[in-house]
Amino acid sequence: MSHFSLNKGVLHAETVSLPAIAEQFGTPAYVYSRSALEGALQEFLDVLNAHPAGADALVCYAVKANSNLAILNLFARMGAGFDIVSGGELQRVLAAGADPQKIVFSGVGKTAAEMKQALDAGIFCFNIESAPELERLNEIAGQCGKKAPVSLRVNPNVDPKTHPYISTGLKEAKFGVAYDDALALYRRAAALPNIAVAGIDCHIGSQLLDPAPFVEALDRVLVLIEQLTAEGIQIHHLDLGGGLGIKYKDDQVQPTVVSYLTPLLDKLAGRGLKVVLEPGRRLVGNAGLLLTRVEFLKPGEGKNFAIIDAAMNDLMRPALYEAWHDILPVVPRVGSTPAYDVVGPVCESGDFLGLARPLCLAPGICWL
Ligand SMILES: *Cc1c(COP(=O)(O)O)cnc(C)c1O
Repeated sequence: MSHFSLNKGVLHAETVSLPAIAEQFGTPAYVYSRSALEGALQEFLDVLNAHPAGADALVCYAVKANSNLAILNLFARMGAGFDIVSGGELQRVLAAGADPQKIVFSGVGKTAAEMKQALDAGIFCFNIESAPELERLNEIAGQCGKKAPVSLRVNPNVDPKTHPYISTGLKEAKFGVAYDDALALYRRAAALPNIAVAGIDCHIGSQLLDPAPFVEALDRVLVLIEQLTAEGIQIHHLDLGGGLGIKYKDDQVQPTVVSYLTPLLDKLAGRGLKVVLEPGRRLVGNAGLLLTRVEFLKPGEGKNFAIIDAAMNDLMRPALYEAWHDILPVVPRVGSTPAYDVVGPVCESGDFLGLARPLCLAPGICWL
C-alpha cells in the first residue's frame, strides 16, 4: 500500500500527515488516496483498451463497495459506469454525475418504485435475478410506456472458493437464475411486450484470488449464449460481474488485473459482444484507511483491550465475518507489544476491529 507510508516516522496518506488530518477533521475519519483510486480503475481501463475484445467495454463500479459521493464522482469523471442495487444508490450515482446509460441495476429485491425510478432515469440495463422480478418489470415498464432493457443474472454453479458470505454463484445461493432455468426464462423475456433482451450476466462471488473460477463461469455462460443465438435471441452484452480480490496481508499475493482479464477477453475475441465488468472491492479496498484514536487502554487478566473511538458501525466487516484489516500506529513507538483486542464503544461483544494484535500503544491515534 504505497499510497500510505511512513515519512519521517509519521504515517502519511500520499503527502498528507495523518495526525494533521486527525487534528483538522477529528476522529474517527475515513481517509482515501485519490491516486490509489485512480490507479485501481486505470488498471482495468488499460487492460481493456489494449485488448481487441475490450475496446467497447464498460466498467461499472459496484457501489456497495463504497458509496462515498466524492469517490463516485471521481470514477464517473474517469468514464466509469455503476452497478447499483437500490433506488437510493441510483440517486447517489446520479447526484455524483453518473451517465444513466452506464448504469446496471442488480439485486434480488427491486421494488416497483425502484423499477420506475430506473426506467425514468433511462439506465443501461436491469440485471434480472428471478422469474417474478421479470414479470414485475414488464408490468411497470408497460405502465411507463417503456421497454425495459434486461439481462438475466445466470447462476453458473461455479465454486469461487471464497468465504461463504461472499460466495454467490452456487446453485443454493439466493442470487440469480438457475443455469438450467435460464433458457426458458430468456424465451419468456423475449416474448414479453415491454422487455428488450439486451445481455447476460453472472457474478460468482467476491475476493477471488484465483482467476480459474471466472474462466469456468464464462465457459458455461458462453454455452448459453450460443443456445440463445441459435433460437434467434440476440445477446448484445456480456456482464462478467466483479469479484477480483485484493491483498489484506503482506504475505498475500494480489492477482493482477491483466492475469484475470486476459484469459476471459481471449475467449471473447471476435464474438461481437460488449463486455461489462462490475468491480467493487478491487477499486477501493486498498485505497482508504480508518483513522481512529485510542481512548483507553484496559489491561486485563486474560486479555488486554484497546478501546478506540471507531466501532463496528463504522467498519462492520470484522464483526460481520471476522475480516482482517491491518492495524498500525500512526506514529510507531518502540517498546513492548502486548496482544490487544482493539474494540469500539458499542454494547456488543462482537464490536471489535481486530483481535490479539501485538501493538505498542498509548492513548492517541492508531490506524486501520
Ligand atoms: C458485490 C457485487 C459486485 C462487486 O463485487 P466485488 O467483489 O466487490 O468486485 C458486483 N456485482 C454484483 C452483482 C455484486 O453483488
